[in-house]
Amino acid sequence: MKIFCVGRNYAEHAKELGNAIPDEPVIFIKPKSALLQTHTPFYYPEFTNELHYEVELVLRVSKNGKYIQERHASKYYNGITVGIDFTARDLQAELKEKGLPWEKAKGWDNSAVVGKWVDLTPKINLKEINFSLTKNKEVVQEGNSKDMIFTFDQIVANISNYFSLNIGDLIFTGTPAGVGECVVGDELEGFLEKESMFQVEVK
Ligand code: ZN
Repeated sequence: MKIFCVGRNYAEHAKELGNAIPDEPVIFIKPKSALLQTHTPFYYPEFTNELHYEVELVLRVSKNGKYIQERHASKYYNGITVGIDFTARDLQAELKEKGLPWEKAKGWDNSAVVGKWVDLTPKINLKEINFSLTKNKEVVQEGNSKDMIFTFDQIVANISNYFSLNIGDLIFTGTPAGVGECVVGDELEGFLEKESMFQVEVK
């Protein structure tokens, strides 16, 4: 199982971190060990002093494929939820400055939170889906899939030119503006439309 993540897929978020708008999806991968298992506590990692949340829409891959064309891409995922791409922002800034890979800032154990799944049906309009994150009951991030620079299908097609997609792989599709810090004791809750999808306490 692989966890693909898209960087800089919302213009406002790219701007807030001082990054250019990409002309091709920015892709990175978290290992399987990054997935926070249900009922496992989330601990603030000791190697960072600037832990950031990034709430994202997450797709579940349901079909194996490679070199998938955009017009066929929607057949390759069948579930959606929201998740958090936890990031050690101080470490990421350091690595970016040196031109080094991001893995230590992004791919550590339990850095990927995934909510409960919603099976896709034709009734769900993926082109305009709202999601949000609250911290201690206050909204800190709000997004809508219509603001993505690359659509779900463009992301799937692009990833599949480089990596085979396999059943069970996950795709984090990028975070909207409003990323920020969390500290021990904070409670984070992710929503798809109005429905609560996960709750995490930073321990
Ligand atoms: Zn992210």
